[in-house]
Amino acid sequence: MMGDERKRGKPLVLVASPFQGHMTPMLQLGSVLHSKGFSITLAHTKLNSPDPSNHPEFVFLPLSDNFSAIDASANYTKFLEALNNNCKMQLQDHLTRKIEEGKDEMNHTITVIHDNIMYFAEEVASNLNLPSIVLRSCSASYMPAFLALPRLHAEGQLPVQEVATEMLALAERVRTPSAIIWNTMEFLESSALTQLRQHYQVPIFAIGPLIKMARCPSTSFLEEDTGCISWLDKQAPRSVLYVSLGSLATMDETELAETAWGLAKSKQPFLWVVRPGSVSGSEWIEFLPEGFTEEVRGRGLVLKWAPQKQVLAHSAVGGFWSHCGWNSTLESISEGVPMICQPVMGDQCVNSRYLSYVWRVGLELENLEIKVVESAIRRLLVDEEGQELRQRAISMKEKAKYSLFKGGSSFNSLKDLVEFTLAD
Ligand code: UDP
Repeated sequence: MMGDERKRGKPLVLVASPFQGHMTPMLQLGSVLHSKGFSITLAHTKLNSPDPSNHPEFVFLPLSDNFSAIDASANYTKFLEALNNNCKMQLQDHLTRKIEEGKDEMNHTITVIHDNIMYFAEEVASNLNLPSIVLRSCSASYMPAFLALPRLHAEGQLPVQEVATEMLALAERVRTPSAIIWNTMEFLESSALTQLRQHYQVPIFAIGPLIKMARCPSTSFLEEDTGCISWLDKQAPRSVLYVSLGSLATMDETELAETAWGLAKSKQPFLWVVRPGSVSGSEWIEFLPEGFTEEVRGRGLVLKWAPQKQVLAHSAVGGFWSHCGWNSTLESISEGVPMICQPVMGDQCVNSRYLSYVWRVGLELENLEIKVVESAIRRLLVDEEGQELRQRAISMKEKAKYSLFKGGSSFNSLKDLVEFTLAD
């Protein structure tokens, strides 16, 4: 049978997690695979559910998770365990029914593609004899560090015991899947990918940046303030610093003030995302320091949630002050925007190191003090150093683009994934 005929309607069940940084690449992957002829069911938690009207091409399968919010201060491993336990039987019942309804005339079997933290899906697939593939939405370069945790722990080299125990519990959950999809590019992370292929001994498809492969509408849980685009239209080319620490990071009042005055003293235009509730003890920006708004009037905009992909693609944006979440990192690289790196946790710390010292398209913020911030912003937007970072970022953007062209590494990996999936 020809490839295209085999593909038509082959059912994939994608199991997404309720984190913004995980949901986005899963929806993008769904769009990419749908464009290749697969039929897509998106299983998701009711907590942070995606908007079905943005994806009329998918069938949505809501799973009751019994959570009303993600509590950033709660024990992460316990949260994941409860989430996985609560969703497991619902997915198993759904898939069992689907299998009982019988295979379609094309003799298709269902393949499960799941977010790595929705590990219950792997168990369900294995119970029902279905193939399962994992989607990883962190950087590949982070994983060698993550996988070294058990050894470092045994050697007593992990400083914070509590965190170490949590991370280790999570590491144990990472089992051996039949294949792994990684939202990355071969040229960017070839050495980490080589190590991971040796470690997992299953095919690893480096398919990225998914943001540039999918025609995917907004994936945001929060409403995007699109008004900022007309403000950007009025700014000079590459003059604006875009500031966002993603969907989870929080800060205290002092950190808010240092950030605010650093931005003000830099004298550069800025677009600053302060997520509601992200400053401890506040609703939104009531803790902004006195005098700040007057000082930056006309030069800066503070908003609750930005249409980030559009912002980074805007010609007025000259830099991105980021927490270096992997989606933000890939989005910045895809648009050739150099970064100021302020990692907060997990893979962000490794991403920040790579951005600053390996790929050299970013400046790592040594600490959050007004003078340090002011200097980093000026180095990035005004000084010669920033020009060099921008040149490298632009050449990285070109390489990312080429990896998607016919014959490019992500293009080929996607083709291989399609073949791999059809072989089941
Ligand atoms: N994002 C957005 N608007 C904002 C801030 C973030 O659309 O104001 C999106 C951003 O484009 C990215 C995601 O939220 O796709 C954040 O994911 P990332 O992996 O960077 O960080 P996380 O939120 O998981 O820490």
